[in-house]
Amino acid sequence: MKPHNAVASNVYDNAQESGYETQEKPHPHQQQASVHTSDDCDNKKRKCSSLEEHTFVSSTDPLIPCVLAHWGCRDKIRRSEVHEHCLTKLHQNCLLLCIHHYVLTIHAGMNNIQISADRSKPTKTDSDLSYTESISDLYEQNTQLYETLTILTGGIQTLMQDATRSTNDFAYLTSSVNQYCQEKVKLQQAVEEQGVQLRNIQMNQDIIQHELTLAKQTMNNSQQANYDGTFIWKITDVAKLKISAESGRQPSIYSPPFYSSFNGYKMCMRLYLNGDGLARSTHISLFFVLMRGEYDAILKWPFHFKVTFCLFDQSGQQRHIIDSFRPDVKSDSFQMPKTSMNVASGIPKFCPLPMLMQDENNYIKSDTMFIKCIVDFGEIPKMILPYTLSLNIGLPDYVQKHMIKTEIERRNQLSSQSQTINLPSTFQSCA
Ligand SMILES: [Zn+2]
Repeated sequence: MKPHNAVASNVYDNAQESGYETQEKPHPHQQQASVHTSDDCDNKKRKCSSLEEHTFVSSTDPLIPCVLAHWGCRDKIRRSEVHEHCLTKLHQNCLLLCIHHYVLTIHAGMNNIQISADRSKPTKTDSDLSYTESISDLYEQNTQLYETLTILTGGIQTLMQDATRSTNDFAYLTSSVNQYCQEKVKLQQAVEEQGVQLRNIQMNQDIIQHELTLAKQTMNNSQQANYDGTFIWKITDVAKLKISAESGRQPSIYSPPFYSSFNGYKMCMRLYLNGDGLARSTHISLFFVLMRGEYDAILKWPFHFKVTFCLFDQSGQQRHIIDSFRPDVKSDSFQMPKTSMNVASGIPKFCPLPMLMQDENNYIKSDTMFIKCIVDFGEIPKMILPYTLSLNIGLPDYVQKHMIKTEIERRNQLSSQSQTINLPSTFQSCA
């Protein structure tokens, strides 16, 4: 037995094969190919958007009359729309009419058979026999018809169940799709929010990184910081810095800050490796910078202490380049700093460039130079400076100070002796 679902379409197949009104009338489009409006279509449910489409649909899925046409269902339908058509009220009414008719016919046939059988019992002639046979045939035909109808009815029921199930499935799918759409929107929002958060985190990270760099710098500075008014500045990568200065990309560099005491003046050096102003390209310029410090408010201003710079000779020959200047107390550079640092002031022509540019010079070795700044708070005699700068800086501070004090006394003694015996001073730098 074929599955019930197949019955309905088989009925249509049979209808078509048997020439059951399958001759299609020429379609309006074929009659008036030049003017096409979709209202011309026989099929009101499927509108063709063009003549080509219409012709294609007509040829692959032609209009056929409903199998219940004789029972009043006069619609013409396409095979692809049979299921849809079977659910229409008109078709179902016609179907009920048809079933009702057949059921009545069968009952009537069966009653007739019973009556005929009863009548033919007493005397059976030849004509009675043939009549009985034809009745049996009729009975068999009726039985077959009844079976067909039962199958047809079952098929229709299955179709209706399928339709209900499909409607439910469709409703469920629609609600699922809606739900997914809502979830998608939510997800998109979440992704956007996360993007914003990520950008914020990135920004915060940059700020933290910047602050970390500053903190590292401050820590390095405070580790290197001196609190006695002197500072030895170690400058590395001189060649690179020199190129930067020459190109004007970075004309000057600053030393880390140092202090005159724990609560004292905050200062640093500023070095132009290719010179500044009039000394540009001829000398290196070295300046002193007063920086804004924590205790400026209770310090004495203007700053008036003598500043000495010393570029170290690294050959051990003690040919240091030493120069000093006294602050111009009227200059803004030496008033209490109002910004993070005052305008630099110092010695523009500290050292001629050619002296440093020789390959075998004693001041830049291994691409490194050392510059010392000494702020003189104790009025160190100028003559003693070379001596103080020649001392081994590896010696403890108190030893160096003692040696300087002894040297000053020795020189004073020599000076007074020379005045007494009128002999010239014989100073020699202690190597
Ligand atoms: Zn129909």
